[in-house]
Amino acid sequence: MRVTIHLECSQCRERNYSSRKNKRNNPERLEMMKFCPRCRRHTEHKETK
Ligand SMILES: [Zn+2]
Repeated sequence: MRVTIHLECSQCRERNYSSRKNKRNNPERLEMMKFCPRCRRHTEHKETK
């Protein structure tokens, strides 16, 4: 049930982080505030495959 995901900046679409999650615990698309080196600030990052 554990899958690898990538976190993509919602502003510039850069994939800055990879992570793992449990699909059973978190079936929803993850969103979190992370620092984007390209935007050089904290932006919303969304889950992508
Ligand atoms: Zn960005």
